[in-house]
Amino acid sequence: VPPKQRKPDWIRVKAPVSEGYHATRRLMRELNLATVCEEAACPNIGECWTKKHATVMILGDTCTRACAFCNVKTGMPRAVDPLEPEHVATAAAELGLEHIVVTSVDRDDLPDGGASQFVKVIEALRRNTPNTTIEILTPDFRNKAESAVDAIVAAGPDVFNHNLETVPRLYPTIRPGARYYASLRLLESVKRKAPHIFTKSGLMVGLGEQRLEVHQVMDDMRSAGVDFLTMGQYLQPTPRHAKVEEFVTPSAFDAYAAIGRAKGFLLVAASPLTRSSYHAGDDFRKMQES
Ligand code: SF4
Ligand code: SF4
Repeated sequence: VPPKQRKPDWIRVKAPVSEGYHATRRLMRELNLATVCEEAACPNIGECWTKKHATVMILGDTCTRACAFCNVKTGMPRAVDPLEPEHVATAAAELGLEHIVVTSVDRDDLPDGGASQFVKVIEALRRNTPNTTIEILTPDFRNKAESAVDAIVAAGPDVFNHNLETVPRLYPTIRPGARYYASLRLLESVKRKAPHIFTKSGLMVGLGEQRLEVHQVMDDMRSAGVDFLTMGQYLQPTPRHAKVEEFVTPSAFDAYAAIGRAKGFLLVAASPLTRSSYHAGDDFRKMQES
């Protein structure tokens, strides 16, 4: 590891060894469910799975895109599993989740981009665990975004998350299959069609973005009506992935958080280890109670 890539001590995580971790892992295997916790090599897996918080990744474990920051495998995905929605609901019940985050790989190969599977998962969760709040973290659905948003907002998740991931200047290298303004429009269209659904978006930092570019992205999000913001440090999953350009200090994250709150986000989570789904349920509950 070149010295530049060595992690500072504020990026310290516990090894995943607890009983809760193993129980979560077993359950996911039994139900044939993928998780972004594992596929994205999330540094928080020890902490989250000990508490039995897992983020399910539907539509399989193989993505049709290859973003430069992402550890999920790329290729031709398998057919959609018709049992997946019930399995997600079973996982939510067995793990006792008050709040579930459901994400997916990108399925540019499917006629609806996978939107109908999100709908089925939301319906299965509402049937089986009606008290669980549902947060979905979706892909951009490319040219099927309008119909995908229509179908998904009709199913009524509590939180609709779509990550902008980085500043527009870095899209061609970091998120080459996506378009910044298309992602922004997707968020805007969710809010316009269903103002009662909370919208959420997130950024990774440390990819070479400038502070002012980040502030501009926050303004763009607020113009699109985005309610919640998450920001975390990008970590390079393997040497094949984009390099870490900077380890953003905890105090710089605090400064971003203060600016985010001043810009009017209802919820801001910004720290080196923040991920879209990190403490998502706890933060959401606290916000509802306040
Ligand atoms: Fe999974 Fe999210 Fe926790 Fe990471 S932060 S382990 S992706 S629930
Ligand atoms: Fe990873 Fe999503 Fe990009 Fe696919 S679209 S490579 S899952 S970030």
